[in-house]
Amino acid sequence: MKQPIALPPLREVIKKHGLSANKALGQNFLFDMQLLDRIAAVPGEMAGQTVFEVGPGPGGLTRALLQAGARVTAVERDRRCLPALAELGDHFPGQLNVIDDDALKIDLASLFDDPFHIVSNLPYNVGSALLIKWLSEARWPPLWQSLTLMFQREVADRIVASEATEAYGRLSILAQWRCEAKLAMTVHRSAFTPPPKVMSAIVHLTPKAQPEGVSPEVLGHLTQAAFGQRRKMLRQSLKGLAGALEALERLGIDSSRRPETVSVDEFVAIARLLSPAA
Ligand code: SAM
Repeated sequence: MKQPIALPPLREVIKKHGLSANKALGQNFLFDMQLLDRIAAVPGEMAGQTVFEVGPGPGGLTRALLQAGARVTAVERDRRCLPALAELGDHFPGQLNVIDDDALKIDLASLFDDPFHIVSNLPYNVGSALLIKWLSEARWPPLWQSLTLMFQREVADRIVASEATEAYGRLSILAQWRCEAKLAMTVHRSAFTPPPKVMSAIVHLTPKAQPEGVSPEVLGHLTQAAFGQRRKMLRQSLKGLAGALEALERLGIDSSRRPETVSVDEFVAIARLLSPAA
């Protein structure tokens, strides 16, 4: 078995580079290498795989991915972290590429030609926006093969929720209509430095075949309208969306239902009727 490369403890890296956690950047760091190795293993065997990581920070998850044999392209917005990441890269020649930028501005198509995995302990303030961006790609299946992402527990629950549950909503539908989505592990708040107020969880998503004839934009607008007024009946929340009430009637979906009772398949069927013919 390959011997793990001896690296300085993460707490030393933080100290050496003065990386005090910045709340505005959603910085809650993980130092427990056993936990980080478990997270890095969620997508499967990583040797020889390509990974895109958002927010490597001091590089805890990054080193777990590199040790597992992945090639990592990481985007970090906090320039203070770059020297620490450069030192980490020196231990893994040719395996780590760090981009100094805002992940929200990154166009994945310009970075990768071959399939890759996305693995990240996401900054909470931009986590949902990034997930929606990756789920809304026009190209399907996308070039990314899996998403392994840390969220606040409550957001993770929304992503994997089934209909007729409290957590079910727009995020559940956008995630599940063309992905398998599952909760991979829960992570106690005490595992982070500094500990956030709430618990966290890792979700794992893999693309599945996209239902035919459905525009992602139309599904996006439909779910926004339906869940924008969650307590209202569909006939009320969808009345501003051209053709929506007729679509409900054609599909035999009772317009007095509330959105949380409407399954992913039913939302997909409504969106199909509203989508322009290909
Ligand atoms: N990966 C490290 C770990 O697990 O300990 C740090 C995770 S911390 C929750 C989130 C990281 O994302 C921070 O390093 C923060 O600076 C970075 N970050 C925040 N907003 C970002 C953005 N828009 N683009 C890229 N990185 C961002």
